[in-house]
Amino acid sequence: MRIIYKSKEIGFCYGVKRAIKIATNAIYDPNIKKPIYLLGNLVHNHHINEYLLNIGIKILDGSSRLAMLDEINSGTVIFTAHGVSQKVRTKALSKGLTIIDATCPYVKLTFDKMSKASSKGHDILFIGKSTHPETEAALDISKRVYLVDNVFENLPLEKPLLCHQTTMSSYDIEDIYQKLKLLYPNIEKMDMLCKVSEKRQQELLLLKNHTFLKPALIIIIGDKSSNNSTKLYEIAKRINNIDVLFIDNISELHFNVLKQYQEISLFSGTSTPEAIVNELYNLLLELDNLEADSYFSKLKLIDYIK
Ligand code: SF4
Repeated sequence: MRIIYKSKEIGFCYGVKRAIKIATNAIYDPNIKKPIYLLGNLVHNHHINEYLLNIGIKILDGSSRLAMLDEINSGTVIFTAHGVSQKVRTKALSKGLTIIDATCPYVKLTFDKMSKASSKGHDILFIGKSTHPETEAALDISKRVYLVDNVFENLPLEKPLLCHQTTMSSYDIEDIYQKLKLLYPNIEKMDMLCKVSEKRQQELLLLKNHTFLKPALIIIIGDKSSNNSTKLYEIAKRINNIDVLFIDNISELHFNVLKQYQEISLFSGTSTPEAIVNELYNLLLELDNLEADSYFSKLKLIDYIK
């Protein structure tokens, strides 16, 4: 009999839930100045952003948060869950805009820790996706924060400290740490991995020692722009002798192909709506009875934020 496993941790993390609530409350609050703008995507999931556009929030796109602010002359600006730099905050205030900050409290905490470390003389080597807003904000914390790229330059650093984006994979962090230790033997490391992301990674890593019914498949459900979903996919790819798919929703799947698998496990990112995971899980439970090869989601916009 086929095994269908749904990971224990699904649905939004508290940072995502909080950000959606803040943005939704703002649009319905008559005391909040309109229009309301978002500096980029509130969280990295297009279903949520479609919901926000639908309720009247304007989502800006641009090369940086500072550049996006040039497009706003009045109203309210919401800072996204990934945080913003002090420069962005100052510019928004100088333009007379109302500010609503939806930065995840955990991201804020890590920025505070980096700021303190920098003022104590640490030079921070930061692992992050170069185009990610969290990285943009982290690099602005101090002149002594350097992005760790693929090239590990030997900089003249006295007190190097390794920091990273809150949703990196524990593999990447350890790999880079070991490489940097060769360049900077005195480098220290700060644990900044968000516990929600970490739990999902750990649950996935347990499958390394699991005996699968073969053939086996892991499906990661999330938006391709979501860093924590991408990291789950990269971790799953390290598990031997299983296939891995990274999808946004059920319409990307061919159910006749899935029928060959004896074990299918579902994992999802912290900004992936629970409804999408459950919709797929319920269909997979009926896999042998399904006649069509492809299915379109029956979810409504409102289901994505429940
Ligand atoms: S994944 Fe973690 S750091 Fe990111 S928004 Fe959620 S709780 Fe915050």
